[in-house]
Amino acid sequence: MRISKEPALIRQIIMDHYEFPRNKGLKNTKEYIKKNLNSEACIDNIDLEVKIEGQVIEDIRFDGVACTISTASTSILTEMMKGKTFTEANKIIDNYVSMLHGEEFDEELLEEAVAFINTSKQANRIKCATLAWDGLKEIIAKAGESNE
Ligand code: ZN
Repeated sequence: MRISKEPALIRQIIMDHYEFPRNKGLKNTKEYIKKNLNSEACIDNIDLEVKIEGQVIEDIRFDGVACTISTASTSILTEMMKGKTFTEANKIIDNYVSMLHGEEFDEELLEEAVAFINTSKQANRIKCATLAWDGLKEIIAKAGESNE
């Protein structure tokens, strides 16, 4: 089934992750890299926490206050990224960003994150949907440098 063709399913995925966010709550230990992410255009203000082992995302969590789109997209991100290598994670993030900019993307690679396909038509909400995804990309880039 293609999620992008199922408006009811899209709504259901977003509301489920908004009401029951996965991996919410920080560990606040030094094994985690923490990054604050916020948007001036929205209420979004979240902390993203990532535990990295070599080139693999061992764990990823978040906390904070954010709108429906931002909360749900961050929750989905955390579910998708656990156990992924930096290369795999970057590929998924790039695909997701392409989708949000109305460009070609691989739907299968995005799993539930396809639910944000319509956000690409709301320019002012794209930042909400990509806040944590861009943040993770920055964390990975930095961690990659210091691992070399
Ligand atoms: Zn927002």
